[in-house]
Amino acid sequence: MKIIVCIKQVPDTAEVRINPQTNTLIRDGVPSIINPYDTHAIEAALAIKDVHGADVTVLTMGPPQAEAALREAVAMGADDAVLLTDRAFAGSDTWATAFTLAAAIKFLGCDIALCGKQAIDGDTAQVGPAIAEFMDIPHISYISKIEAVSADAITVCRLMDEGYDVVQAPLPVLLTVVKELNRPRMASLKGKMRAKKIEIRKLTSLDLSLDKNNLGLEGSPTQVKNIFAPEIKKDRIVIGGTAEEQTDELISILKAVKCL
Ligand SMILES: Cc1cc2nc3c(=O)[nH]c(=O)nc-3n(C[C@H](O)[C@H](O)[C@H](O)COP(=O)(O)OP(=O)(O)OC[C@H]3O[C@@H](n4cnc5c(N)ncnc54)[C@H](O)[C@@H]3O)c2cc1C
Repeated sequence: MKIIVCIKQVPDTAEVRINPQTNTLIRDGVPSIINPYDTHAIEAALAIKDVHGADVTVLTMGPPQAEAALREAVAMGADDAVLLTDRAFAGSDTWATAFTLAAAIKFLGCDIALCGKQAIDGDTAQVGPAIAEFMDIPHISYISKIEAVSADAITVCRLMDEGYDVVQAPLPVLLTVVKELNRPRMASLKGKMRAKKIEIRKLTSLDLSLDKNNLGLEGSPTQVKNIFAPEIKKDRIVIGGTAEEQTDELISILKAVKCL
C-alpha cells in the first residue's frame, strides 16, 4: 500500500505579526512548523503502516526552506519525502495549489492520500477536497477515527456537529483529518539520523509536464483586493477601589453600554 501525506510548512501563528505599512505577514524571525493538523495526518499514515505495512511519502509544495518540514516528518517515520519547488508555483492560490499537488500525487501514485483538515495560516480547508476533485477520486473530510483498512477500501468515522458518521470508500481515496484522530508520535533518534541524511526528491513543473498557465499566480483565479489587520475596537478600562466599589463601577459601566 502506498500512502502520500500532504504537509504544509506554516509560520507558528502564535507569534505572527502584520506589518501595518505593507499589510503583509512579518515572517522574519518567526519560526516555521509543520501545520499541526498535518502532524495528525502523518501519524495516521504511520499507524496504518505499523499494522498493515505501507510506504509513506510526505509531499509539500513550497520554497526550498520547506525541506525542514519534510525532514521532520521523516524523523517521525515517513519513508520518503518529495518537495514540489519551482518559481512557476509562486503565488498559487488554493486552486493552483491543489492542481499542482494533485498532479504530483498522480505522478507518484498512491492508494491513500492524507491531508490536514486545514492549514492554520491560510485556513481555507479547500486544498484537500480540491486535490481529490482534480484526481477524480472520492474524499472524506474531518476523519476522527480509522476503523478498518483493506487492500481496496477504508472505513472511517467522520466528525460531525452532533456525533460522527461511519463512512466507507474504495481506494484510492483522499482523507482530511482532525486532531481528535490520534496523538502524533515523537521523532525517534534513529528517525532523526535518517532525516539528516535522506535525499529529498525535488519535482518541478517540467517533471510533471504541467502547463505554466495553470500554475502559480498566473493559474490562480483568486484575486486578492486588500489584506489588512482588523481594527481592534475594544477599550480597556481599569477599575480601581475596594471590591464593592469595583462591583458598583462595573455594574454602571455594563448598564451604560446596555449589557445589563
Ligand atoms: C492570489 C494568491 C496568491 C498566493 N500566493 C502565495 C504564495 O506566493 N506563497 C504562499 O505560501 N502562499 C500563497 N498564497 C496562499 C496559498 O494559496 C494557500 O496557502 C494555499 O493554497 C493553501 O491554502 P490553505 O493555506 O488555506 O490550506 P488548506 O486548504 O486550509 O489546507 C488543507 C490541507 O491541505 C494541505 N496543503 C495545503 N497547502 C499545502 C502545500 N503547499 N503543500 C502540501 N500540502 C498542502 C495540508 O495537508 C493542509 O492541512 C496565495 C493565495 C492567493 C489567494
